[in-house]
Amino acid sequence: MFDKILIANRGEIALRIHRACRDMGIKTVAVHSTADHDAMHVRLADESVCIGPPPARDSYLNKAAIIAAATITNADAVHPGYGFLSENADFAQMVEEHGICFIGPTAEHIRMMGDKITAKRAALAAGLPCVPGSDGAVESEEQALAAAEGMGYPVIIKATAGGGGKGMKQARSPDQLRDAFRLARSEAKAAFGNAEVYMEKYLQHPRHIEIQILADNHGAVVHLGERDCSLQRNHQKVLEEAPSPALNADARERIGRIACEAIGRLGYRNAGTIEFLYENGEFYFIEMNTRLQVEHPVTEAITGIDIVREQIRIAAGAPLGYTQADVRFAGHAIECRINAEDPETFAPSPGRIGGFHTPGGLGVRVDSGLYSGYMVPPHYDSMIAKLIAFGNTRNECLMRLRRALGEFVIEGIKTTIPLQNRLVNAPDFVNGDYDIHWLERFMAGEAQ
Ligand code: ADP
Repeated sequence: MFDKILIANRGEIALRIHRACRDMGIKTVAVHSTADHDAMHVRLADESVCIGPPPARDSYLNKAAIIAAATITNADAVHPGYGFLSENADFAQMVEEHGICFIGPTAEHIRMMGDKITAKRAALAAGLPCVPGSDGAVESEEQALAAAEGMGYPVIIKATAGGGGKGMKQARSPDQLRDAFRLARSEAKAAFGNAEVYMEKYLQHPRHIEIQILADNHGAVVHLGERDCSLQRNHQKVLEEAPSPALNADARERIGRIACEAIGRLGYRNAGTIEFLYENGEFYFIEMNTRLQVEHPVTEAITGIDIVREQIRIAAGAPLGYTQADVRFAGHAIECRINAEDPETFAPSPGRIGGFHTPGGLGVRVDSGLYSGYMVPPHYDSMIAKLIAFGNTRNECLMRLRRALGEFVIEGIKTTIPLQNRLVNAPDFVNGDYDIHWLERFMAGEAQ
């Protein structure tokens, strides 16, 4: 097992990884920008190294500085968390080339899944059902129009290098398609430095259902069930739950099996998530995330499995040690993402935290790096806390979640707690009756 792990991230996820390391008796090294010198992940780690100024490109995305930090502190392994360098194949490769273990899949698998066109091809070849779409990249307006004729409107244009919901545009007619094509390309170029786009049939009322996978280096693959992440704003997740209120036992068993078989064929190892859209009883692969996800705690709550611990064990070469039949699912969990944002306009709201009180009690978990007096810097993602509630039934979970949201105090900045409070009381949500467009209709007053 590793003696010391460098955590190449910040905020709640750096803390989450630190906690798993502590539970396993592994020492931790935090890295931080100058804006984060007094962040909780730095305070709790055994050692810390400043890797640069506040902008992420100079610090948390600075591969050389992070590898230098791992080398001088003698870390055996690097955990990348999510975001930042977690899906950067070059970084994974560099880490390994320096004789340090990258806690995640191989650079080849990251590269394959990071390009959405090669990912879809690999998924199809591995037996995963995909959304009907263009065969590879769409290079011109003419090609886009021809592809749309073939699959029928509406269609969606997506960035090959996409992530975080950027570079995605829908079109319901040839006229809209011309504009959407140009817009998607320029947005993709600006966000990812790569203008390449592809097309898919636009599904009108799907749910976003994803399967959590664990695969070791010895051929064992298990799934930890699904998460329903259909509550989204601008294609970004706001609240997640497990299990999905939309799946029955048969559908769950079927998609879990298909996902495990595909992972086996791909020879993938470590944790990963296969994302699907689910409509009219059919699953359609959209992408695979080759890393830990923000919403992993809901799966931990219903399986009792520490996913970060499993990532570390797998990377160290340990066998999974259990089979699918040993994975037990119990109860229901929901996660609310709490952002430093105005709950109405979603304008970022960085600043100094005044009073701070986290909820507790049975079935309540808070993952956050906040503390009273902490300054939320303006340079990074606005998510500042995750509140996860667990109950034996969905209703028990909801009751605890409402109670916990009511106890949560974050003063000094605006947060999305009031929005989450509205969501967990909305009749459609309470009934489990929502798709990927529901939240936007709810915000517009068109759904309850
Ligand atoms: P990203 O990597 O940017 O997150 P994804 O491919 O994972 O992009 O898609 C993010 C979200 O965009 C999905 O959860 C869904 O809400 C929406 N989306 C993606 N593809 C389609 C599609 N073909 N039809 C309808 N909605 C889609």
